[in-house]
Amino acid sequence: MIAHIVFILATLATIGVFAFTASKIFANIKMLKKPYSISNVGERVGLLFKVVLGQSKIFRLPLVGFMHALVLWGFIFILVGSLEMVLDGFIGVPFDKMAENDRVLHFLGIVYDIIIAGGDISAFIILVLIIMFLVRRNLMNIKRFTGSELRHKDHKDATFALFLILMLMASLLGMNAGYVANKGLYGIFPVSSIIAGFIPSDAAHLIEMISWWTHILLIFFFANYLPFSKHFHVFMSTPNVYFSRTEPLTKMRAMESVTNEVKLMMDPDAAFEEPEETDEEPERFGMKDVEDGTWKNYIDSLTCTQCGRCTSVCPANQTGKKLSPRKVILDYRRRMEEKSPKLRKEGKSYDDGKALYSDYTSFEELWACTTCNACAQECPMNIDHPSLILELRRYIFMEESAAPSLINMMSTNIENNGAPWQYSAADRLNWADELYINE
Ligand code: SF4
Ligand code: SF4
Repeated sequence: MIAHIVFILATLATIGVFAFTASKIFANIKMLKKPYSISNVGERVGLLFKVVLGQSKIFRLPLVGFMHALVLWGFIFILVGSLEMVLDGFIGVPFDKMAENDRVLHFLGIVYDIIIAGGDISAFIILVLIIMFLVRRNLMNIKRFTGSELRHKDHKDATFALFLILMLMASLLGMNAGYVANKGLYGIFPVSSIIAGFIPSDAAHLIEMISWWTHILLIFFFANYLPFSKHFHVFMSTPNVYFSRTEPLTKMRAMESVTNEVKLMMDPDAAFEEPEETDEEPERFGMKDVEDGTWKNYIDSLTCTQCGRCTSVCPANQTGKKLSPRKVILDYRRRMEEKSPKLRKEGKSYDDGKALYSDYTSFEELWACTTCNACAQECPMNIDHPSLILELRRYIFMEESAAPSLINMMSTNIENNGAPWQYSAADRLNWADELYINE
């Protein structure tokens, strides 16, 4: 009875803390602009199957990709088992009805057997893979896992999260093995049945209960740790991929209000045309700080796993420039973490004297980007770095007129001469004077 009450209180506390964290994230999302129209549901669902479930981008590195895909697919089985544990806990199955060996979902029959067997095998596979990931991350010198943007606490977070998953899998196997040794009636446990052979029958119940509690409390802790970790992608990858840009990556987003101005300038007749639907009058051209961004920029930053695949394919980074697309994304998340509590309280007018540009992301980094889109193409989470970079550059260009001198000169020429060169339109054919074509 006491155990049952403790479980219910722990579950409610977990839900409460998670809801509190989620409410802050939603408040931040609400504060930001809409990125683009979120229609074409069919295409977006297709993306989920391809990029999230099919892990299509992860497989570009076949071996590591396969290892990661196994972890994801395994988690799907384990998730159902975890759901059953929570339901069991609420009903009191593991505490009061242990003698009956009852389990909430066993009525699913063969499906239940497949899920439980899949979860048991997956737990073992994930356990082995996590050990390999830990060795790879901590003992092998993988360039992708290094970079000045990764702080000591980021490395510690990555290792800690892997360790938590390792403990989750070990406790799951311990629980299953204890259950089998305790003569549990339901489910098939291919791996745990072997482990159960080493468990004395008088210790089986104790091992099952210790593992059960360890596993469920770790799940509760993990769920509330994730929003502060790079492993938040466990939750965020699905929404982030769903809300991906579906237009070609290379398409640069024009500001409709500016486009209309230019159209008017080039063609005065356009003044009499029906005006196109436009965004609201922009408060700012481009992005100076996080509140000028869209909520997709924000959820991109929450989804980043810090894997470094983007930076490893960035031509600017690979030729020694200061730019790292991973850093640009992490800068946004860190600046949001710093500023959002006050933004939520005091509104967008809050100013702490700092900004994303240039206290976090510098001029040199931003203008090193070639807009090749290799980073966005490679990112397994469909994060869109170039859009963020372009918005920051748009601010520098349009509000501070501080773009690199060649770009400033070119835009002045376009404004004055209608062409990027320094000559007036009337002089355009001067070059032909010397060709004597009229003689
Ligand atoms: S932005 Fe994407 S590719 Fe780059 S580190 Fe983050 S998850 Fe990896
Ligand atoms: S778009 Fe910019 S940041 Fe991304 S890979 Fe190309 S150069 Fe690097």
